[in-house]
Amino acid sequence: MLTRFKLSSMEGRIARNDLRGSGTVRFGPIGHRLRQALAVLTTLALLSSLAWADRTLLKPGWNMFSAQQDVEMGQQVSQDAERQLPMLNNSRVDNYLNDLGRRLAAKAPGEKYPYRFKAVNDRAINAFALPGGPVYINRGVIEAADSEAQLAGVMAHETAHVALRHGTNQASKAYAAQAPLSILGGILGSNSVGAVLAQLGAGFAVNSILLKYSRTAESQADIMGTQILYDSGYDPRAMAQFFEKIQAQDRGGRSIEFFSNHPNPDNRIGRVNEEVSKLGGPQRGYSTDSTEFQEIKRYVQSLPAASRAQQMQSTNRNDTGGPGSPPQWPSERFVSFQNSLLRLDHPDNWQAYTQGDAVTIAPRGGLVEDGKGNQALAYGVIVNIFDPHSNRYNQQLQPRGYGQDSSIFLEDATDQLVQEFRQSNRNMRVVRSQESISVTGERALSTYLSNDSPSGGRETNWLITVDHPEGLLFLVFTAPEREFQGYESVFRQMLYSVRINR
Ligand SMILES: [Zn+2]
Repeated sequence: MLTRFKLSSMEGRIARNDLRGSGTVRFGPIGHRLRQALAVLTTLALLSSLAWADRTLLKPGWNMFSAQQDVEMGQQVSQDAERQLPMLNNSRVDNYLNDLGRRLAAKAPGEKYPYRFKAVNDRAINAFALPGGPVYINRGVIEAADSEAQLAGVMAHETAHVALRHGTNQASKAYAAQAPLSILGGILGSNSVGAVLAQLGAGFAVNSILLKYSRTAESQADIMGTQILYDSGYDPRAMAQFFEKIQAQDRGGRSIEFFSNHPNPDNRIGRVNEEVSKLGGPQRGYSTDSTEFQEIKRYVQSLPAASRAQQMQSTNRNDTGGPGSPPQWPSERFVSFQNSLLRLDHPDNWQAYTQGDAVTIAPRGGLVEDGKGNQALAYGVIVNIFDPHSNRYNQQLQPRGYGQDSSIFLEDATDQLVQEFRQSNRNMRVVRSQESISVTGERALSTYLSNDSPSGGRETNWLITVDHPEGLLFLVFTAPEREFQGYESVFRQMLYSVRINR
């Protein structure tokens, strides 16, 4: 249940996603006992490790992707990245980076991602991480670092971006802000990460949403990076020292690429130093450098620059996405889609994207670029369940099992749903409200809404709401206003095919 998108909880999570992470777990009576047990455990943990007592605790923010999807996405995007970047492809350097990187990643909290570290034959000082594990370090970082601890600092910072899931958090936020209807319908399917990437326009590119971090995210990566350095036995001050050093070069007129991917948060150095003192200063016997690092640094300095061909390739980075092609006309052949909520037929040239119980069914080209690097549903249908916040209204707002109250439930829950839609779609208007219709013999409500279309102009959203044991089942059929009539018969055919699972 917690994995399903709920409008009410989603908004809360977006609002406080940055430093706190998500918090929608509801504690019942068992939860209370669990909390007590956790409190005891926490106390024990504090006694056993003073170093943990004062450190800043960080958790990943709100995310519509699963950790496994982070991994899949990173793997796919890394193929793009490695075609476009001038990879160093030197096993001695890569082995060194991997050994160092894995020691650091072992200290990263949270999900254990399959981290791998590779060198890029680029003298610009930069490094970046993709969701779920791939980390790229420019040779410029190795050449500019004074010590292994400084290089480790940059790598720990990148590792923290992965552990904190900043790439997919950014992508999730952009999606929620630009395409609230799509996110409700759940564009994601466990095996459709490729499609998701295309929809997000989030392939590998310099300005990819996966690599553009907010200053808050930067600050988090700094803090967790410092903690990782500390826990790995390195001088935790080394990361800030390196940033200070390259910042000075930046001011000297040489632009440092690192800061275009990793924007400088306010008081970056001060905040890191604060964390170092929270940790109680460097660990006894901390390490700063190694002869191996100095050897690798000299070796890298001796390697030839990327060939012209490689450089050309890397400047020729192409953005994915772009305006979608016009959708194919719906086929007359229908196929059946089924999940735990319902069964419904759709044209066989439309595709279903599922996540949990939610599904979006759209033609190729039905998801279009909205001009802000996001994809939104322009043609197709979203099916999802809405969980009305019963306490805001009254206890009668319970689906099913409350016989005579079921009509109150249907009307009030539909009102709430429309309110939620309008909160995230400023220009949405109700055109025709709550007309009773019948869906598979059940009373349902039909509501017409008008909204800005991601393909320009206005669109019509035909909202159908039905009482369902799990909450309020809703379908939103969407097409541009001027084309809606043409799609209406297909939408009706889909609606009449609906069979609700009870
Ligand atoms: Zn960063």
